[in-house]
This record gives sequence, C-alpha cells and structure tokens, in this order.
Amino acid sequence: MSAQIIDGKAYAAGLRQRIAGAVGDLAGRGVTPGLAVVLVGEDPASQIYVTNKARQTLEVGMRSFEHKLPATASEAEVLSLVQKLNADPAVDGILVQLPLPKHIDTQKVIETVDPAKDVDGFHPINAGRLMTGVPGLVSCTPLGCLLLLQSVKPDLAGLDAVVVGRSNIVGKPMAQLLLAQSCTVTVAHSRTKDLPDVCRRADILVAAVGRPEMVRGNWVKPGAIVIDVGINRVPNPAAGEGKTRVVGDVAYAEAAAVASAITPVPGGVGPMTIACLLRNTLEAACRRRGLAMPGV
Ligand code: NDP
Repeated sequence: MSAQIIDGKAYAAGLRQRIAGAVGDLAGRGVTPGLAVVLVGEDPASQIYVTNKARQTLEVGMRSFEHKLPATASEAEVLSLVQKLNADPAVDGILVQLPLPKHIDTQKVIETVDPAKDVDGFHPINAGRLMTGVPGLVSCTPLGCLLLLQSVKPDLAGLDAVVVGRSNIVGKPMAQLLLAQSCTVTVAHSRTKDLPDVCRRADILVAAVGRPEMVRGNWVKPGAIVIDVGINRVPNPAAGEGKTRVVGDVAYAEAAAVASAITPVPGGVGPMTIACLLRNTLEAACRRRGLAMPGV
C-alpha cells in the first residue's frame, strides 16, 4: 500500500482563501478582525513565527498588531500589556508567543488573556469548554490536525484513535477533539507500556512527541491514517557540513508504505497552525459582536 499524502500546505492555502473571503464580507459590515501578537525577547525561531503570523494576518485582510518587548521585560510589564490588549476594542485575538523568558510565569500570562480573545485556546476556560463540549476557541495545532483528518475521512465515529503525547497544547486537546468526534481515544506518553503495540491498534495515529522518527512503520496498522505533528531539526550531512533538515516524529517512508493516508513533514500539520490561528481570530471577532461564524 502506498499512502495518500495529506497536503497540509494546500489545505491551509484554501482555508486562508476562505477566511479572506469571510473577512471581505465582514469589512462590508464595517468589521475588520484584528490579531495582536506579543513577542518577549529575541529568540530567532520565535521572531520568524511572529513575522509569518503578521504577514499571513495582513494577507487575509485582518489587522495585525505586533508588540515586541525586550527579554528583560518584567512579568508585570507583560501582564499589563495583555490587559491593555484585553481592553482594546480593535483587538479580537491575542497571541503571546511561547516560550517566554524563564523569569515570567507562563501560566499566569495565559490566564490573564481574556478567554474571548484567546485565539491560541490555551486559557483553562477554553480548555474546559473543549472538555465539556461547549463552543469555545480550540488550540490551533490540534484543530488543524482534525481538519486534515476530516479532509480524508469526514466521519471518524467509532474509529480507534491513539494520540502519542499529552501536552496541554497538542496531545490533550487533540484527544478531546477526537473524543468529540466519537472516536475511542487512547492517550500515550513517556510512561506508556508497549507503545508500539498500543500504536498498532490505531485507525488514527497522531504523533506529537518531539522525537525524530520515533514511530516506525511496523507500529502502524495497515490502512491507518497517520498525522505527524513533530517538528524536529536533525543533522543532514548529505547536504554539507553543519546542514540540517526537518523531520517529524514518524519514520515517514516506512509509515507511508503501510498507512492509507499520512501527513508529510514539512508541509503537513505545520502550515495548518497559522491558518487555524486566523480562523480562530475570525471566530473570536464574530462571537464578540454576536455574529454567526461563517462556514470556512
Ligand atoms: P511536549 O514536549 O510538551 O510533549 C511531548 C509529549 O511526548 C509528552 O507528553 C511526553 O510524555 C511524550 N513523550 C516524550 N517522549 C516519549 C516517548 N519516548 N514515548 C512516548 N511519549 C513520549 O511537546 P509538544 O506537545 O509541545 O510538541 C510535540 C511535537 O510537536 C514537537 O516536535 C513540537 O515541535 C511539535 N509541534 C508542532 C507544531 C506545529 O505547528 N506543527 C505546534 C506545536 C508542537 P510525558 O508527558 O510523559 O513527558
């Protein structure tokens, strides 16, 4: 079997296009959604993410507000900026780029964001809404994974799903989303016994671990759908001294020989994260004004 490649880049481009259409309709009603991104410090990877987010925000016709604070900014300064953005009517979504410098309490910052503007879906109120089946803002990466899954299999009910990883930003919300689709969900982690056996039971296998190519082809049930969330930079001596390449948490070629569909890395889940951030900003903008969320 050779798996269908789930093209996250193409899906994300289509989603952004539909979001841009909906933003255009809102503009006709005098509404322009705005996304504020807060970056503390000079971490190069975070700077690239923030630049990409701002560019894509503008491309879909939303307003982008960038707030850069030095790495020496105090926790009080960050909290005060978040509170200012909470109160700003032009801001519909607030994203605080993680990781924050060590002297800042990340959880405190997350809990200071107004849940109605929490487009990352990290606030305990939104995590609780997801768990209790109440509409809320859902963490972007797992939401992107679900959209990709449904693009190849719209009805997931009754399927056995295994999520490897139990972080608050990926593993746990992913498990909740799959449960809401009536999958039978197993969440595996570093203390799971016989992980390959657990994975082999999965009709849907989501790997969100952060370990390069850990999930081997013989862990994959024939015909399973494999979603690889991992982004791992590894040495690539073939390309030259000191060069690197990005691989997922799944040994792609091995798994693709067994699965029915699989996301590549790069070009799978990665592009969906920012597209879902824009989707959440649109949703937050509509909800704050009592408007129905357009079907994007
Ligand atoms: P975390 O480090 O927060 O969580 C990793 C999880 O994997 C933990 O639950 C951990 O278990 C589990 N784990 C670690 N080692 C093993 C092992 N040997 N066997 C089984 N489980 C293991 O990572 P994140 O959830 O933040 O991210 C996971 C991956 O996804 C990373 O590669 C990250 O870069 C990527 N990512 C990609 C995004 C995208 O846009 N595509 C967005 C966010 C993340 P335990 O809890 O027991 O420690």
